[in-house]
Amino acid sequence: MLRAVTRLNRIAMTLAAAVPLEKTPLETFVPPAKPSLVGLSRGEIAHQLGAIGVAPGQRKMRAQQLWHWMYVRGAREFSEMTNVSKEMRAQLAEHFTVDRPEVVAEQISADGTRKWLLRLPSGNDAQKAHEVECVYIPETDRGTLCVSSQVGCTLNCSFCHTGTQRLVRNLTPGEIVGQVMVARDRLNDWVDRETPNGNRLVTNIVMMGMGEPLYNFDAVRDALLIVTDNEGIGISRRRVTLSTSGVVPNIKRTGDEIGVMLAISLHAVRDELRNELVPLNRKYPLKELLQACRDYPGASNARRITFEYVMLKGVNDSLDDARRLVQLLKGIPAKINLIPFNPWPGSKYECSDWDQIEKFSEYVFNAGYSSPVRTPRGRDILAACGQLKSETEKLSVRERDALRAMAMTD
Ligand code: SF4
Repeated sequence: MLRAVTRLNRIAMTLAAAVPLEKTPLETFVPPAKPSLVGLSRGEIAHQLGAIGVAPGQRKMRAQQLWHWMYVRGAREFSEMTNVSKEMRAQLAEHFTVDRPEVVAEQISADGTRKWLLRLPSGNDAQKAHEVECVYIPETDRGTLCVSSQVGCTLNCSFCHTGTQRLVRNLTPGEIVGQVMVARDRLNDWVDRETPNGNRLVTNIVMMGMGEPLYNFDAVRDALLIVTDNEGIGISRRRVTLSTSGVVPNIKRTGDEIGVMLAISLHAVRDELRNELVPLNRKYPLKELLQACRDYPGASNARRITFEYVMLKGVNDSLDDARRLVQLLKGIPAKINLIPFNPWPGSKYECSDWDQIEKFSEYVFNAGYSSPVRTPRGRDILAACGQLKSETEKLSVRERDALRAMAMTD
């Protein structure tokens, strides 16, 4: 019997090892002939202005004006920028745009969750225009936008729908910031919109959409520095959370260079199981990952690290797992997000029973950790990452056009 179990274990390990750790991008981004200024730093905008002949003494001031129009007022055309001279507006429009990704489908859940499928323009006609998803989740005290960092994903976590997709390419800073801008456009959430208390609808950002953000570090950093810039979109760093499945070498850089809140897709408390659920664990096992969390710059009780734990029936949801979780997180300022698994067609897992989720949560809570169970949102619109994209890919051209028409009407 023991020999049979050992053999089975060995087969399971071989199968897990057969899953490639990382995928390589199939494409690189080719900018359109008229590139968008969205996603450039102020210095880069000034540089671009120099390239079209704007005098050196004017570049910094013009870059600041453009920044304000793009990121405070949400201008979609240079013609809206009324404090810029007519000639300069015409010159800008001749060479650049302030385009963001195009909304090709919008779904609104009965609970108010909104999901957009966004098309990313490319300068390479031979390449298919790619699409990513972005989800807005309104709650009573906040509105959270879940943003994507890659088309597809470098990794292949076995419980995740996006993991089944190819890694097509990394998003550019403009395509990442552009998702936030699209949400503000669609929600009419720019500064000119009157709200009873002056609050915006998009108050929080989570880098938890498609892709592993730390495999697209530079673009994600540049985008988040724009999103958190006080003179622009102005979302506080404490309201931006970057979620990683554990790319250990870039965790410290995230704290040092971006300074946002950190979340870890943990999902298992033993290396054998995590190797299967999050195969990247074979490269950066739990011990190294948790040490990187202990060392995360700026982590404190006021800035706790979130550990995400998807609840999979009979896989990782026993009280023994809960006990081990509490042991593992000792010494880390942590909170634990329990996520009921949202099944997708073809997945081999089931969501844990509700009373088991409650028992698990209670154990963790009694050990002193906040352990909210994430309320499933937008199930009627398949709001788990990657699902709208896959569903839309199955639609006929006519059906896609119909969705697109819906997205264009407010
Ligand atoms: S969980 Fe995140 S990192 Fe893992 S495959 Fe899905 S999108 Fe990629």
